[in-house]
Amino acid sequence: MFAKVIVDVPAKQTNRAFDYIVPPALKAWVEVGSRVTVPFGPRVVQGFVVELHEETDVKIERLKSIQSVPDLVPPLTVELVGLAHWMSRTYLCHEVTALQVMLPGALKAKYERGLQVGIEPQMGSLLELPERLAILDFVRCKGTLSMEALMDRFPHEGAAIKDMVLSGALVEVQMMKDRISMKKVLTVFPPKEVDSLVEAGEKLPAKARKQKEVLDYLSLHPDPIRLTELMELIQVGAGTVKALADRGLIELKEIEVMRDPYAGRTFARTMPLPLTDEQSTVYAEIRSAIVEGKPSVFLLQGVTGSGKTEVYLQSIQQCLELGKEAIVLVPEISLTPQMVERFKGRFGNEVAVLHSRLSQGERYDEWRKIMRKQVRVVIGARSAVFAPFQRLGLIIIDEEHESSYKQEDSPKYHAREIAVQRAENNGATVVLGSATPSLESIHRTSVLPDHGTTESPSYRLLTMKSRVEGRPLPEVFIVDMREELKNGNRSMFSKALHHAIEERLHKKEQIVMLLNRRGYATFVMCRTCGYVSSCPHCDISLTYHQSTRMLRCHYCGYAEREVKLCPSCGSEHIRHFGTGTQRVEEELGKLFPGIRVIRMDVDTTTEKGSHEKWLTMFGQKQADVLLGTQMVAKGLDFPDVTLVGVIAADTSLNIPDFRSAERTFQLLTQVAGRAGRHQKLGEVYVQTYTPEHYSVQCASRHDYNSFVTEELHSRIRLGYPPYQRLILVTFSHEQAPFLIRAAEAFAVRLKELIEDVQRKQSTEMLLSLDGFEEPQAADFSMEVLGPVASPISRIKDRYRFQCVVKYRGDGLAVELVGKAVAYFEQQNAKEKLQISIDVDPQYLM
Ligand code: ADP
Ligand code: ZN
Ligand code: ZN
Repeated sequence: MFAKVIVDVPAKQTNRAFDYIVPPALKAWVEVGSRVTVPFGPRVVQGFVVELHEETDVKIERLKSIQSVPDLVPPLTVELVGLAHWMSRTYLCHEVTALQVMLPGALKAKYERGLQVGIEPQMGSLLELPERLAILDFVRCKGTLSMEALMDRFPHEGAAIKDMVLSGALVEVQMMKDRISMKKVLTVFPPKEVDSLVEAGEKLPAKARKQKEVLDYLSLHPDPIRLTELMELIQVGAGTVKALADRGLIELKEIEVMRDPYAGRTFARTMPLPLTDEQSTVYAEIRSAIVEGKPSVFLLQGVTGSGKTEVYLQSIQQCLELGKEAIVLVPEISLTPQMVERFKGRFGNEVAVLHSRLSQGERYDEWRKIMRKQVRVVIGARSAVFAPFQRLGLIIIDEEHESSYKQEDSPKYHAREIAVQRAENNGATVVLGSATPSLESIHRTSVLPDHGTTESPSYRLLTMKSRVEGRPLPEVFIVDMREELKNGNRSMFSKALHHAIEERLHKKEQIVMLLNRRGYATFVMCRTCGYVSSCPHCDISLTYHQSTRMLRCHYCGYAEREVKLCPSCGSEHIRHFGTGTQRVEEELGKLFPGIRVIRMDVDTTTEKGSHEKWLTMFGQKQADVLLGTQMVAKGLDFPDVTLVGVIAADTSLNIPDFRSAERTFQLLTQVAGRAGRHQKLGEVYVQTYTPEHYSVQCASRHDYNSFVTEELHSRIRLGYPPYQRLILVTFSHEQAPFLIRAAEAFAVRLKELIEDVQRKQSTEMLLSLDGFEEPQAADFSMEVLGPVASPISRIKDRYRFQCVVKYRGDGLAVELVGKAVAYFEQQNAKEKLQISIDVDPQYLM
């Protein structure tokens, strides 16, 4: 038998499957989706089996054999292997990169250098050097081992070992290790007949009193128990228990356990709520799609507080009743304990949770629960979309408009697209939920005028227009900050917001305060000469971190101390600028003495569990204000929050990106949705310098449809998504002149390829007009913009140029870009030119 294997060497030349022999001994273990180790050139690397065949085209003498299979059960399913292939074509990434992203980090191969026996040395010469014989024997017996292990065994033979490596008697090879192992704990096993323990205890010498106590305890509690637990319970040392094991009275064994991040937490069981009319209409549609089992995609547009989660929960319930499995995706930052609780509360131990705040080991164990079919529901961030279920019935993506569903590193996939693809493979239903669906998604529901672009399957739109139990949406007040300044108010809070805060403090209600500061970092500038501290390796200003008093580059990590004097003119007037959350916190403290503020931003949430801690504190009313960046806008549901304040609503409008209006609208709508979700009425104050902007206006009226209409006009006019799609191609190189020439040559090459296609298409059109065939709509159009310098024109000492490709139609454009890049990589193989491709980019930076 032969296997086609994708090897863990992400490079152009290795981006295909290689044939290997499946040795008879491994035949039972090698399946499609198996992880294997294979010899590859001089090394041993990890690989994935993507096909199995009885025959091969390659000469058998030239083939090597699979060396080992590390897992008992293949970590990837046949479906996922196919999906990776699809991803490599759709996103122009290496197939192995796509396969890797589906696995928990723990299974990523870790390569270490090791030693093996090389050419067998002349026996005669060795006989004089017995220590070398011993070394050689030891290595031969181990097969491959690390330098450390060898030095541990022969601590005084460094020189001999070095000599043997130089002479080729030992050779250096690469060996593979898993990053993480299963967690094992020492467990005490009493014998089957515990009565014998009492007798044995009596026979113990008198001074072994502690040992006797252990035996007495075990005779009453005959179940296996963790060693640590036993030690804790009866206050004995490990030595005591080990002594008993040595006497053969009990057994001590290592037992594998699952790490459970939610161990020791109980989740109160919740029952399905009777649905509102809107909820039941929506649920009925989703339910019948799940029952029918044909691939389908719903876009659920429901205002904040309309009860989308209850619809998700009951849909999952339905799915489970049919014996199928469900995946729920939520943005990383809304994956709060509150959110997890809603799912664990309904489905208990059937739920696995995957997110990046878990340790690698915890993630691995949660993932193994899926593999072992111990759970049927997964809730997680983006990459949970790859959960290796085999009877997938439902995929829910909450807040589907969030840009974090797009991965920024290769493979640059979008979870929404993966979900749709997996639904296609499994006959599953996809539910995309949001109060403010992305323009791409609403466009696919074809309720909007279609301008002949979408080739893809259409989504079905479901709407929920009102909040549960007729609760009103909060009233939103727009505050024009220019007026405030005119009236002499220089504080960062308007009169109105100031007053509203006072009122809540008085009534003991709670406040959520959002500082919209994406792209608005705190930088250091000299007021005298205008000098800005910037990174010496990247074209970007350094960000000031108050807690450490350091200036840091967010691209390469470069850091320097805060400066007191301007390095350019020597002036003392060098200050940090930008309204950081810390400054808002200080200001609140000054204006409202005694106010209790919880600040949540990147600085205060780095520690594991801190996010959870702050939210719990706020939930227990240990603070009046929850202040933060984007983090406080999403998914939180606190009954006593009756005021939401937005400081500087427009900072995100000023970012030069065609999605900035959409992002601003979404953010304002989301954060406004945090207010008045329960019995008490909510109010929202939005402070802005551009009150007339339609994204601010529409958000204040909770008017999604008007926003979409307005925004789509501008997208059509400018030829942006969803009417045209984009591919961002970024080039980087250390030398600017070389880079510019290369980027230009690339654009020329790509344009040639496009013209070829267009010429061919128009000939076909002519032919078909002659009456041979029906004329075909020429839905293909493609245009190359640039190259121009990237918005951040240098990162880590590499200059950056970019081309933006705008196109309509299906995969053809991606294929052409792929061809042009491949051509280019051949031409510049030696030049260290890096080309990165982003299909459907979220940011043009
Ligand atoms: P969304 O996700 O749409 O913003 P949620 O799902 O968080 O809204 O629901 C808002 C609130 O309404 C929650 O407190 C939820 O428990 C409650 N709720 C949802 N559905 C019902 C229902 N059918 N009856 C009563 N309360 C409900
Ligand atoms: Zn200066
Ligand atoms: Zn830098």
